[in-house]
Amino acid sequence: MIMADTIGLRVTWGGVRGSNPVCAPGFERFGGATTALMVETSDPLHKLIIDGGSGLDNLTPFPSPAPAGSGLLMIFTHFHLDHLMGLTGFPPLFDDTLAITLAAPEQEHGMTLETAATRLVSPPYWPVTPFASRPFLNWPAHPAEPYTFGPFVITWMPVAHPNGCSAYRIVDRESGQALIFATDFEWAAMSSSERDAFFAFCGERPEILILDGQFDDAEADRYRGWGHSTWQEDLAIARRVNAQQLFITHHAPQSDDALLEARQQTLSDLFPNARFARQS
Ligand SMILES: [Zn+2]
Ligand SMILES: [Zn+2]
Repeated sequence: MIMADTIGLRVTWGGVRGSNPVCAPGFERFGGATTALMVETSDPLHKLIIDGGSGLDNLTPFPSPAPAGSGLLMIFTHFHLDHLMGLTGFPPLFDDTLAITLAAPEQEHGMTLETAATRLVSPPYWPVTPFASRPFLNWPAHPAEPYTFGPFVITWMPVAHPNGCSAYRIVDRESGQALIFATDFEWAAMSSSERDAFFAFCGERPEILILDGQFDDAEADRYRGWGHSTWQEDLAIARRVNAQQLFITHHAPQSDDALLEARQQTLSDLFPNARFARQS
């Protein structure tokens, strides 16, 4: 989905599904690929990808050969399979003309992206590893200072999720626009001080707020401890921080187009600038 502004942050949704990819009739409109999105600014040489789910297949950051001076930063919220499974065959990782850096904060027990991704995408689980010459940045769980990549200023914070997960705040230095990406977090499991920290992290009136809304309030009790939130909780967060646009993502594998369209109808009446994210 492309934002209305041509100046500022633009998002391309490679995948919006959570847990498992789905490929079946009734899932075409919102899409069945798991989490991966690309963030762009007016700077054509620096692009950012968040997470490496099966939706990576739908993202083409640069043509090959890549333009001189171009660079791709791939950042990861955590290391669950639905956020890494697309790394097995993402063509840019095999393109020596493109500079790619992979980065993530440490998760539970100090687990780093470098360890998790290399362990997963290597023999005997996969015949080749695509990371041979790629630098990894193993960030601390709490940033000492923002990380800057081209136009992007990136900060992060831990959120409540089994084995850990990080939310990102991405600011475009030119336009000043802010994008908050928080997937795989369980709002009901966060204390009031953790919630206050998250509100402060979002800041006032972020341009784009993207949140995990895998479940509906009516079914939330069945899934306590699974590490996800409801779209109604997302709506309350968006109102609290006066988000200009809210996108709900990480749709459950059983949430088909009909169900998400029905939720969208209700959501639009409550918050006009809110959407259940659709694969681009
Ligand atoms: Zn997930
Ligand atoms: Zn997860």
